[in-house]
Amino acid sequence: MSFAVRFFAFITAIFMLFTNVISGFTANKTPEDLTQVKNVIFMIGDGMGFNSIEKTRLENEVEEFAMDSFELRGENRTWSSNSLITDSAAGGTALACGVRTSNGCIGVYPFDTKPTYSYPMSLTDLAYDMGKATGVITTDSTSGATPAAFSAHTAARGNEEDITTQQMNSPFDLIWGKGTSSFSEEVVTDNGFIPVYNKWDMGLLLPGTRSFAQFSGDCWSQNPPEGMPTIAEMTAKAISLLAFDTDGFFLMVEAAHIDKHSHSNDGESMKDSVLAFDDAVEVALDFARLDGNTLVIVTADHETGGIALINGSYRYTNTGHTATNVPLFVYGCDNFIEDGQVINNKEVAIRTAACMGSEEAFPIQVVIDYSQEDESGG
Ligand SMILES: [Zn+2]
Repeated sequence: MSFAVRFFAFITAIFMLFTNVISGFTANKTPEDLTQVKNVIFMIGDGMGFNSIEKTRLENEVEEFAMDSFELRGENRTWSSNSLITDSAAGGTALACGVRTSNGCIGVYPFDTKPTYSYPMSLTDLAYDMGKATGVITTDSTSGATPAAFSAHTAARGNEEDITTQQMNSPFDLIWGKGTSSFSEEVVTDNGFIPVYNKWDMGLLLPGTRSFAQFSGDCWSQNPPEGMPTIAEMTAKAISLLAFDTDGFFLMVEAAHIDKHSHSNDGESMKDSVLAFDDAVEVALDFARLDGNTLVIVTADHETGGIALINGSYRYTNTGHTATNVPLFVYGCDNFIEDGQVINNKEVAIRTAACMGSEEAFPIQVVIDYSQEDESGG
């Protein structure tokens, strides 16, 4: 399928959405009286459980995290549709689209329930539809599972080429992360993106431009390599660009290495990742407090490493993901959850869409019209 065709299919699907050629919409599924916001900063600490934070607090003698200042503090149950233990693809899809899918799936319905002619809209898709500015930033490769869940729809997280192609042809304003295979400077330029390779390129970006970043090195750290931004710097710059849109913006921020370093039980690097992420959370909260019309969500797709307090110290108990509940911290919507409430991962997306003022409740099914593709030679 050509790039143009895929993009055309996407546009067609969005058009059909507005002409009511959709099904699966259930009325009254969403809390109706959630406080409405203009902007959303949706922050995901990949693999970040409560004890990832507590291990960092105890061992690095942190007096107060930015994450401690949220008044609404609940929990998110992370299961996927086919496993109590989710991967980042299904976990990201639940948070992005309000649908629990099969492990490995990116922004699509579970294998066993829906045909492939449709997919669930993501919060990024919704924001674009609402005329808002849109951004997806990560310390992972741009084609990693979490950024992919917020910017692509494909049956398998391993479809890196498909994910990158969809992103390069997407209508989003910024997609920033580490380099990925199948990135093409020519394609992103042709689609109106400014290619960005380091923090100086990033710093020169002006409001109203669209950009696609392919950073290199360890951007997850509080001290990244020379010329590379921290996640807090990325977040600050992204907000400064997106906030110029008078319709508001949706920004997803992922700290990917809390997960990656926990897989290898590298506690020092994991803590560095948590601290770097918390710096980004502080940037987001500073903006939200000034702006007064911004929802900030801090959550995770799952916990990694089974960190437990054993004999007075926080230790890893395995090298994989676990099914434990993860943090859900909310600022800017005082009735998003009750303080201390536990909700399902997909419900985070459903409520975020409601806060954004979506006319239809998540999940929203988008139907792909393949006949249009055939006519255009796809
Ligand atoms: Zn993982």
